[in-house]
Amino acid sequence: MVSTTYNICTLPGDGIGPEIMAEGKRVLSAVGAAYDVDFVCEDHLIGGSAIDTTRDNGENVTALPAETLQAAQAADAVLLAAVGGPKWDDPSASVRPEQGLLAIRKNLHLFLNLRPVHIYRALRDASPLRPERLKGVDLLIVRELTGGLYFGEHKREDHVEGAGVNGRAGSFASDVMQYSEYEIERVVRWAYEAAQGRRGKVTSVDKANVLATSRLWREVNHRIAKDYLDVESSDMLVDNSAMQLVANPAQFDVLVTENTFGDILSDEASMLTGSLGMLASASLGDGTALYEPSHGSAPDIAGKGIANPLAQILSVSLMLRYSFKMDEAAATLDAAVEDVLDAGWRTADLADSATPVSKVLGTREMGDKVIEAFNKCCAK
Ligand code: NAD
Repeated sequence: MVSTTYNICTLPGDGIGPEIMAEGKRVLSAVGAAYDVDFVCEDHLIGGSAIDTTRDNGENVTALPAETLQAAQAADAVLLAAVGGPKWDDPSASVRPEQGLLAIRKNLHLFLNLRPVHIYRALRDASPLRPERLKGVDLLIVRELTGGLYFGEHKREDHVEGAGVNGRAGSFASDVMQYSEYEIERVVRWAYEAAQGRRGKVTSVDKANVLATSRLWREVNHRIAKDYLDVESSDMLVDNSAMQLVANPAQFDVLVTENTFGDILSDEASMLTGSLGMLASASLGDGTALYEPSHGSAPDIAGKGIANPLAQILSVSLMLRYSFKMDEAAATLDAAVEDVLDAGWRTADLADSATPVSKVLGTREMGDKVIEAFNKCCAK
């Protein structure tokens, strides 16, 4: 008998989105069957497909229809694939697919973004770092998402006296970096809680030798660290962190930082894996959380059935872990992905010259392999 029901707002979006979302949903069904949970998925429009549909229907043209937002707010979790593509790329267009993403993140009050960086044994050679540098790398980047430089006042003035070269009039611009104590506290506290369930280590990244916001960040970090004495806490300057991420990435467990630093460091850390098709992310707030792959809509391969669905599937795993507290199911799914890769199965983006053609799978077949491995792991 099915004991629990979760409603998922699924947003396939554009490009390869619908193809990888199909696999995410099939995997979710397999998890539901194994754990007696009914995942009810309902598709809604976002991005370019929302722009086209609202335009065709003669409605207000938008990348995030009100009905999608309402469904997302009412759901237990949101699973997104990707948005965008050349069809909607006109920079002068008043409505663009990415606006849908920004609007849904804002309206769901998602103040924290998580990006796990895990090195898969079988994909070590895909990393730009030497394999010995990758030993033991398994980190979680926790990034503040709604404050800092990106959300402070942005200003530009032209023809400003003395702002040009040689004392002439020229242009001037400024962006304000700002943080309130509560914005820092909710993210840093989350990082400590996460570290308790991992290797028990938090590195808080700032630029406290220069920035007032960073000094506040560090102060809050030190105060919160006292509530988590079982977690090892340290501060690191952002410039040093950028170096350490490539010099000795295995030293990090949970790395927590503000919006701009997190944006840059999480992309740098992603590259340790060497494969965009493997990176999932979660954005959490006070209400419904949103899970999505880190890559885009890959319009160059859309409709060909060859996209790698693993980042989407790993986003499902994050959803199980963080929205539904189904840690065992998430770990089993992660192990299934690792097993499939260990067995040599690859999508085209993961294949190299040594991969036999018979081991290269399409999107659907890769979904099949993961489901098969998941069911095998469950049966153990
Ligand atoms: P992209 O991530 O879509 O693609 C970069 C390269 O990686 C391409 O060669 C693509 O084929 C490949 N790739 C990406 N995901 C893959 C997968 N799952 N399987 C196999 N190969 C994959 O980035 P881009 O080309 O810069 O952007 C394409 C569109 O996606 C743009 O419209 C951009 O605005 C949008 N975009 C959306 C998001 C999002 O929805 N969160 C993020 C980034 C870019």
